Amino acid sequence: MWTDMRPAVEMPRLFERGGDVISFAGGLPDLDVLPLDTVSAQLSRLVRLGGKLALQYTTPHVAGALVPAIKDLMAREGTTAEPGGLVPTAGSQMGLMAVGLGLAAPGETILVQTPAYPGAAAAFRTAGLTLHAAPEDASGLDAHALRRTVAELRAAGRTVRLLYCNPTFQNPTGATLPEARRRELVAAARELDLLIVEDNPYGLLSFDGTTTTALHALDPERVVYLGTFSKVFAPGLRCGWIAAPEPIAASLRRTTEVMALSPSALTQAALGAFHSRSGWDDLLDAYRRSYKERCDLMADALEAELGTDGPWQWERPGGGFYIWLRHRDGTDTARFVAAAAEHGVSYVPGSHFGIDGEHADALRLCFSNVPRKRIAEGVARLAAALTEPAST
Ligand code: PMP
Repeated sequence: MWTDMRPAVEMPRLFERGGDVISFAGGLPDLDVLPLDTVSAQLSRLVRLGGKLALQYTTPHVAGALVPAIKDLMAREGTTAEPGGLVPTAGSQMGLMAVGLGLAAPGETILVQTPAYPGAAAAFRTAGLTLHAAPEDASGLDAHALRRTVAELRAAGRTVRLLYCNPTFQNPTGATLPEARRRELVAAARELDLLIVEDNPYGLLSFDGTTTTALHALDPERVVYLGTFSKVFAPGLRCGWIAAPEPIAASLRRTTEVMALSPSALTQAALGAFHSRSGWDDLLDAYRRSYKERCDLMADALEAELGTDGPWQWERPGGGFYIWLRHRDGTDTARFVAAAAEHGVSYVPGSHFGIDGEHADALRLCFSNVPRKRIAEGVARLAAALTEPAST
């Protein structure tokens, strides 16, 4: 019998929102801020006036009308890309799969910043790659240790050409790699002849409007940048892009063509039209405000319920969607899933973000899509579950 051994990207059960469950599990954006009337008018205009093009197949290139929208987003993190270096995707999940299939051969090793977004690990595994944790210390990816790790792996006969990271408001920790560390990392990648895969869905979602320089800005020849409209616009349009050195972009374009034949001309046109009429400022501000409020509500409630010097250790993030709680005694947080469900709250256990079962002592809470007035109640339910004695 054929058995599918591939890891799931998400855990549908944890996303169920039935009954009275308050879900801190799924990383969903708050689409209440999206001006649906504007989007709807633009989509209908596009179909009415240009439907025969917008609904036709197109080539695996980023549409000219979308390029300024992408450049505007990338410029906010100090970087840019020319059309020849851009590849359209149906979101970064497809970008991750294209990178895994197109830039490494099955059996090769990819270094992965952990804890990692499970969809990245799943994509690389599905592409036949072996995952190895990239060395880190308390400040994040550690370029000095990286040199040792890569030398050891290569001495053992492993081929290592890629390093995957999510350096800004990381899923699941919310952490951001400091600028000095970014420079060290890029320098080490040059020395070691590694390509860095920079997965950046949350970079523009800081709570105070500041941005961090993208790794891509520091060396566009060494970095394959994955951008997406999922978190700065809406995931349902399934639209994103890869920015890469031109020869790599050309190769990735062939990979994406095999994967999906054609990007959606309609969604590319809709996003381009939205940007040319409204720009990104208002929407980004609205998203940031929404997430800052929700994060504050969750962090205040966590402080009130769990304190700051109890068994749970966590930090207030400066942006993104997530708060990462770690148990000081190393307790496996999967232990509390059933109690949490009984109390009517859900979260994602930390082991889902490890590449080899590690990080089981942590858990991820997502605040981005929880109704404001339910956050404190959800945290109270969670605290009740987390402080229940083990049933075994
Ligand atoms: N990378 C990271 C770090 C993510 O958190 C996500 C979605 N949660 C993705 C990639 C994939 O997003 P999408 O395909 O919608 O762009």
